[in-house]
Amino acid sequence: MRHYSIALIPGDGIGVDVIREGKKVLDTLCELDGGISIEYKHFDWSCEYYLKHGKMMPDDGLDILKDFDSIYLGAVGYPGVPDHVSLWGLLLPIRRQFQQYINIRPVKLLRGIQSPLANRGVDDLNFTVIRENNEGEYSSIGGRMYEGTDMDMAIQNSVFTRYGTERVLKYAFDLANQGTEKFLTAATKSNGINHTMPFWDEYVRKINMDYPEVKTDIVHIDALSSFFVTKPDVFDVVVASNLFGDILTDLGAAIVGGMGIAPSANINPEKKFPSMFEPVHGSAPDIAGKGIANPTAAIWCASMMLDHFGESNLSAIMMDSLQDVLEEGIVTPDLGGKATTEEFGEEVCKKMRSKF
Ligand code: ATP
Ligand code: MG
Repeated sequence: MRHYSIALIPGDGIGVDVIREGKKVLDTLCELDGGISIEYKHFDWSCEYYLKHGKMMPDDGLDILKDFDSIYLGAVGYPGVPDHVSLWGLLLPIRRQFQQYINIRPVKLLRGIQSPLANRGVDDLNFTVIRENNEGEYSSIGGRMYEGTDMDMAIQNSVFTRYGTERVLKYAFDLANQGTEKFLTAATKSNGINHTMPFWDEYVRKINMDYPEVKTDIVHIDALSSFFVTKPDVFDVVVASNLFGDILTDLGAAIVGGMGIAPSANINPEKKFPSMFEPVHGSAPDIAGKGIANPTAAIWCASMMLDHFGESNLSAIMMDSLQDVLEEGIVTPDLGGKATTEEFGEEVCKKMRSKF
């Protein structure tokens, strides 16, 4: 029997709904396979927890998480709790403490999903955005000065280190090098941001020398964003800083069917610490509690988690079943269907059962 331990943090809003379905799909798959067992521990860390305790997780939260094989997170954030509180109170400390410096965000058109760009002939998209996940623009260095006066100002510094930049670029080049297209696009803005971005570009060129077969394009983020719409089929691997990667991948989600679909994996490639799997979407208070959130992203995350464990066969069965259901059109309202979150999860389980 192969054993894995997962820390479940459903979080807020629809995070709770979609993680419930993701877990159900995982449980069903384990039962069907018979060779794998997963032990879960549930944590109620969330904005609700914050409103009760004044913090998003207990002081020893990171210590509690460190021995799990992975963390499966829904979403955090809720009206009444500022976003920077929920992010810096839970999500960002986990990403940093556990050296999850790679954020993998596939931009892939699943079977059964039509791209909003279909009328421009886009019917096949499959590339990966690698977002730097530990430094860059998401530094907490800075401050507010002269508040309440005419000189009121805020300063926030970006941090790009050689260590942090090289390791994310190496990961991205490796990924590109393993594929058939061997094409890497690096997002930059070295025309306007004149210290950190030329530094980033310099390391792209430097690391590229170790990967002579990989063709590289360094593209300004503004132009790159427009290319996601005008010619998304040219991309293979895209690497971007923390902020640019975040913005690009909401756009990436949009071109492959919307926020309900896009998964992300926060990876510690060395497996020294747990990695964390979470949908790109947030807690979506507008549809929370209605039972209509699309659990596709959460289920896709579970499949990425299996892949990370080395369970690539099971991961593929899950993705295949998920796409069968999408193709049959049994989908949630965001994709134009009538299925509830729970019904969709159940359909995926049914499909998996038919494959054993
Ligand atoms: P954040 O502040 O973390 O970005 P959010 O609460 O603004 O989170 P988003 O993920 O940005 O939510 O989603 C924006 C909107 O997209 C939501 O308000 C919701 O209408 C829709 N949406 C997001 N995720 C889903 C989903 N899984 N299923 C259906 N609709 C979704
Ligand atoms: Mg949002």
